[in-house]
Amino acid sequence: MAGKLTFTMIKPDAVENNHIGAILQKINEAGFRIKAMKYTRLTKETAGQFYAIHSERGFFNDLVTFMSSGPIVAAILEKDNAVADFRELIGATDPTKAAPGTIRAMFAKSIDANAMHGSDSDENAEIEGNFFFSKLEQF
Ligand code: UDP
Ligand code: MG
Repeated sequence: MAGKLTFTMIKPDAVENNHIGAILQKINEAGFRIKAMKYTRLTKETAGQFYAIHSERGFFNDLVTFMSSGPIVAAILEKDNAVADFRELIGATDPTKAAPGTIRAMFAKSIDANAMHGSDSDENAEIEGNFFFSKLEQF
């Protein structure tokens, strides 16, 4: 059965462009509840750890530089079928291919600076949530 939790980040481009409020509103309107949230910043080292699965990809160094370029908002979200429903809400990785009305279609500028992260499986949602939040910070 699909799990109830997913993990997200509002990425540095969307924070820089003052989209935090509009994005959180869309997340709540789509039926997600916030279980944990923090405004923080990744270093190159922690961004590299978070995206270690992509370390062999050609875009890895640019991704690490981008993700550590400014503050982010990290959050754990709750909803039935959370992972799949949240991926649908954010849209395709490349905003030019993201469906109209999705968060990336509305707020992302490019395939790299694409406004949002969303976990791709229940297993990764748990790993990623625990990367940012202790159990005592998850309500
Ligand atoms: N990315 C990129 N170029 C690419 C593919 C991905 O810069 O060709 C970046 C982009 O920020 C993306 C992240 O790497 O969100 C992780 O890639 P993934 O394929 O996991 O996409 P996502 O799950 O975020 O849609
Ligand atoms: Mg991914």
